[in-house]
Amino acid sequence: MFARQVLRPAHVLKNHVRRYATEPPKGNNYNAALFGGIAAAAGAGAYYYMNMDGVAPRNKERLGDQSAAQGSPSSRREEENIPAKVDKPMMAFKGGDQGFISLELESAEDINHNTKRFRFKLPEEDSVSGLHVASAVIAKYQGPEMEKPAIRPYTPVSDEDTKNYMDFVIKRYPDGPMSEHLHSMNPGQRLDFKGPIPKYPWEPNKHDHIALIAGGTGITPMYQLARAIFKNPKDKTKVTLVFGNITEEDILLKREWEELENTYPQRFRAFYTLDKPPEGWQQGKGFITKELLKTVLPEPKEKNVKVFVCGPPGLYKAISGTKKSPQDQGELEGHLKELGYSKDQVYKF
Ligand SMILES: Cc1cc2nc3c(=O)[nH]c(=O)nc-3n(C[C@H](O)[C@H](O)[C@H](O)COP(=O)(O)OP(=O)(O)OC[C@H]3O[C@@H](n4cnc5c(N)ncnc54)[C@H](O)[C@@H]3O)c2cc1C
Repeated sequence: MFARQVLRPAHVLKNHVRRYATEPPKGNNYNAALFGGIAAAAGAGAYYYMNMDGVAPRNKERLGDQSAAQGSPSSRREEENIPAKVDKPMMAFKGGDQGFISLELESAEDINHNTKRFRFKLPEEDSVSGLHVASAVIAKYQGPEMEKPAIRPYTPVSDEDTKNYMDFVIKRYPDGPMSEHLHSMNPGQRLDFKGPIPKYPWEPNKHDHIALIAGGTGITPMYQLARAIFKNPKDKTKVTLVFGNITEEDILLKREWEELENTYPQRFRAFYTLDKPPEGWQQGKGFITKELLKTVLPEPKEKNVKVFVCGPPGLYKAISGTKKSPQDQGELEGHLKELGYSKDQVYKF
C-alpha cells in the first residue's frame, strides 16, 4: 500500500481531494500551455534521464532485430555495454565565478489576481538553463531609490531540459521590491540572474518516501522535485504533498498536481487546505495543522523518509522552525518536531 499512515480521516480527506481533482479545470491559458509542456516532458522522460549524463537512450524497438543481426555499431555498443556519447546542450547558468547574467523578458501572463508567469529568454539559442534538481536562481534588482539591490531566489517551473527559455511563476507582494519590480516589467526589458544555487541534491530513489509541505509560492521548489521524480521511470519514490493557500484561486500548478495524482495514484497523494475556503469546500480548512500532518505524512519511523518545507515565514515557524541562513538549516521545531521527526529528516528550502 502507498501509505499505512493514511488512516480513516485521511481517506475521507482523500475522497475530497479526488472529488476536487475531477472538477473541470478553470480556463487558464497558462496552465493549459504548461500542462501540455509537462505532458510532453513526461513523455520524453526516459530519454531525458539517460541523456542527463550524456548517454544516449537504448531504443531497442527502433534498432530492431535486423540491425542487431548485422552487428551495426549501435548493436555492438549495446552488446558491449558501451554508452554512445551525445552532445550536451549549452548551459546558460554555469555557477562558479560566472556572476549575474542578464535575461530578456519574453512574455508575462496573468495566472490569477496576484501571480504571473514570466518567460525569460536564455542568451544562446538551443541552450538549456543548466539547473539541476533541486536548485534555484537568484534575481537581482536595484531601483533608483534603493540603497542596495534586492536579491531573491526563484525556482523555474519549466523543465531542466527546456531549450531557449525559463518560465517562472511569481507572486506579487505589496511593497515587495523584487516581486513588485517583476510585475511592472514589460517584454523586452531585462533582469539579472545568477545560478544554479544548489539546494537539496536529488538522486533517483534517494528516499523511499518524501513529503512536500508548501505554502503559496513555496510550491515551485516542490514542483521541481516532483517533476524530476515522476519523469524518471527508474525513480520509484513515493510523494505526499500538503499544500496550504489562502483561496482556491491561489493553488498554483493545480492541473499538474491533479495529473500526477491520476497517473501515479499509488505513489503520489495531494492534500490541500485553504484559509478562506469557498462554500462547499470539502478539504482542509485553515492553516496546515499538526493533526493534518499526523494523518497524511509518512511516519517518522518509516524507512528513509524526508520532509521538505517551503513557504512564507509563518509556515516555517509553525511547521519546522525557521531556517537561519542558506548554509544553516536551524533547529527543527514546530509540528514536525512534535510529531517525532528528526532534524536530519527535514529540509527547509
Ligand atoms: C528556494 C526558493 C524559491 C522561491 N521560488 C519562488 C517562486 O518561484 N516564485 C515566487 O513568487 N517566489 C519564490 N520565492 C520567494 C521569493 O524569493 C521572494 O521571497 C518573494 O518574491 C518576495 O520578494 P519581494 O522582494 O517582492 O518581497 P519581500 O520584501 O522579500 O517580502 C515582502 C513580504 O512578503 C513576505 N514574504 C516573502 N516571501 C514570501 C513567501 N514565499 N510567501 C509568503 N510571504 C512571503 C515577507 O515576509 C514580507 O512581508 C522562493 C523562495 C525560496 C527560498
